[in-house]
Amino acid sequence: MLTHQPPPGHAEHSGRLQAVLDALDGMPLDRREAPYASREALERVHPGRYIEALEPAFAEAQSARVRLDPDTFISAGSREAVYRAAGACVAAVDAVMAGDDDMAFCAVRPPGHHAEPISPMGFCIFNNVAVAALHALDAHNLERVAVVDFDVHHGNGTQTVAEREPRLMFASTHQAPLYPGTGAADETGIGQNVVNAPLPAGAGSATWRRAMETRVLPALDAFAPQLILVSAGFDAHKADPLAQMELETEDFAWAARELRALALKHCQGKLVSTLEGGYDLAALAGSASAYLAALQRD
Ligand SMILES: [Zn+2]
Repeated sequence: MLTHQPPPGHAEHSGRLQAVLDALDGMPLDRREAPYASREALERVHPGRYIEALEPAFAEAQSARVRLDPDTFISAGSREAVYRAAGACVAAVDAVMAGDDDMAFCAVRPPGHHAEPISPMGFCIFNNVAVAALHALDAHNLERVAVVDFDVHHGNGTQTVAEREPRLMFASTHQAPLYPGTGAADETGIGQNVVNAPLPAGAGSATWRRAMETRVLPALDAFAPQLILVSAGFDAHKADPLAQMELETEDFAWAARELRALALKHCQGKLVSTLEGGYDLAALAGSASAYLAALQRD
């Protein structure tokens, strides 16, 4: 996934993933290679015609970078990266459901939560977390899976999937107004299975934690998921250059403890987190390692 190379100067570059991998070096983790996602797993979210239409672009990208949308590019390494990013999330669900361990973190790029079923968007090509969620529902016969998305941007693609799948809950905190422009509080899905907590630019720890404590966590508790997935983007950090929220590194550790507690209450601790955004390398590395350290501490 390091070989997926948007043009020089692009915010979503391989140094992000390298910074996360470096930060996790030395932590007590059982590291596993990310397999390719199967066609069957991808097709639960993305129609076959979308998956097939990417192939000529991947072929063209072998010789020159291809632009899929205003912000989304593919290079020679991108086909492998996108298949492994989605595959990591599927494999993490399988490992957690098999009881190998109760938690997993998918250190992946490109991110996925903006990818719509039929279009790449906002650095994302396959919606990694949505593919994992529908795999959990269908391949593991679950009835309730939740995705919590604390990336500073709204996970529009994941919400689109939840809006047609009542077994999936999607709950998001995000800055608004900000890209991609979706995620208003009155977007509530099917029978309230979508929970959006938009927050203004400048919102910091207290505001964000209040939104989590009053909107996201109670809804998650009421839904009683059998598995919790987390779109773990760290770009709400105050140092991030792509947004204007003001979270501290410690806020991500707090979120980890809150989510871990609900996972222990409802799903034997089953919690799969996947990397989404985070564009200040030091803040990304510090926040991701604080999040994982807090998950492991109990
Ligand atoms: Zn983001």
